Amino acid sequence: MDRQKEFVLRTLEERDIRFVRLWFTDVLGYLKSVAIAPAELEGAFNEGIGFDGSSIEGFSRVSEADTIAKPDPSTFQILPWTTSTGRHHSARIFCDIAMPDGTPSWADSRHVLRRQLNKAADEGFSCYVHPEIEFFLLKNAPEAGELPVPADAGGYFDQSIHTAAPNFRRHAIEALESMGISVEFSHHEGAPGQQEIDLRYADALSMADNVMTFRYLVKEVALGEGVWATFMPKPFSEYPGSAMHTHMSLFEGDTNAFHNPDDPQQLSATGKKFIAGIVAHASEISAVTNQWVNSYKRLIHGGEAPTAATWGGANRSALVRLPLYTPNKASSRRIEVRSPDSACNPYLAFAVLLAAGLKGIREDYELPDEAEDDVWALTSGERRAMGYEELPGSLADALKVMERSELVAETLGEHVFDYFQRNKWAEWAAYRSRVTPYELDTYLSL
Ligand code: GLU
Ligand code: MG
Ligand code: MG
Repeated sequence: MDRQKEFVLRTLEERDIRFVRLWFTDVLGYLKSVAIAPAELEGAFNEGIGFDGSSIEGFSRVSEADTIAKPDPSTFQILPWTTSTGRHHSARIFCDIAMPDGTPSWADSRHVLRRQLNKAADEGFSCYVHPEIEFFLLKNAPEAGELPVPADAGGYFDQSIHTAAPNFRRHAIEALESMGISVEFSHHEGAPGQQEIDLRYADALSMADNVMTFRYLVKEVALGEGVWATFMPKPFSEYPGSAMHTHMSLFEGDTNAFHNPDDPQQLSATGKKFIAGIVAHASEISAVTNQWVNSYKRLIHGGEAPTAATWGGANRSALVRLPLYTPNKASSRRIEVRSPDSACNPYLAFAVLLAAGLKGIREDYELPDEAEDDVWALTSGERRAMGYEELPGSLADALKVMERSELVAETLGEHVFDYFQRNKWAEWAAYRSRVTPYELDTYLSL
């Protein structure tokens, strides 16, 4: 048996861990878990654990229901929860999903990202990511039909001592770090109840695992503090939504491929083509980076979120910007993509962003002019004249562009692509048929 597996089995025994939670992610980005007894793990490492894939969103069709979860020992971590005597009782391991014949499942988000990372590796690159994750803390879980109430009245960077937020953030960060997820920054975001926690960069696959772990931990820690966390992209009409700004860089061996000390912005030709790829394909990939009906309520003018496919050095209204970094620290030159929201499937989102950027490099895309203006303040005519492509304004618009995208079809693979289209059109149809409070307020007097 290899050393990682041995280490996991030994740790379970030494720490007296009673539950091993096997985790994986469905196509929509929901975390799935099956707990096994430690004695079962060795078998799971060797043969995997069979489960009924037909009951998981986006997995097998009923006729091919048997699906196998194979734990990836490198992702073993002990969960921070303890018994009343202070003993840790559970651990988690992420799984790769396989078909009964052992081949990787086409429905597995982790596999979609891995495939894209292998493609990058074939072209000489490894990919690093760090997300800034925004979310809201609510006073409690709203009952059906009830409006959400923010847990605090804080604003951007507020250090308020009269609310749950600072203690919550400290406890959340302790929980994250106990599981090997390093946090770089955390602060109160602009809206009441809104928090942001920024993770330290990691390779893209580990980071997608980290984002899944993050959402789970944050929700659990919030419950422990008597509040409730939501990653819904835009819970309040009157406040900004929750972004997952995604910082990305490519490395060739130990060298940051985005860094060029001689460029005015210290951005290499490779970095420029990567940005050009993301800007060119932004509309096609937006159904993946912003996958819910509600996602498009965030991407509106003046909402601190991008609405056009643009890039700009320090421009916060642009889709891609170059974040401040330590000058002459080559490893930290990176780009920041501002469209993804905190409720995306991180595996699929990282995969399509990477695919778009790599295509820009492979096909020598030319970087359009930098958007120096406040893109939000321009009229649609001005934006058109400047060549800025509007991003899709609704899930339906996004799905229509995605439908025709070879890039997304290739990246997701046929199975995930078809499932995604079917599922998301159904979501749109369900939404479209609902008469909203807005319509009653506005039209009932007609
Ligand atoms: N919350 C904003 C959004 O939805 C981003 C705020 C920021 O710049 O950090 O995009
Ligand atoms: Mg922010
Ligand atoms: Mg940011």
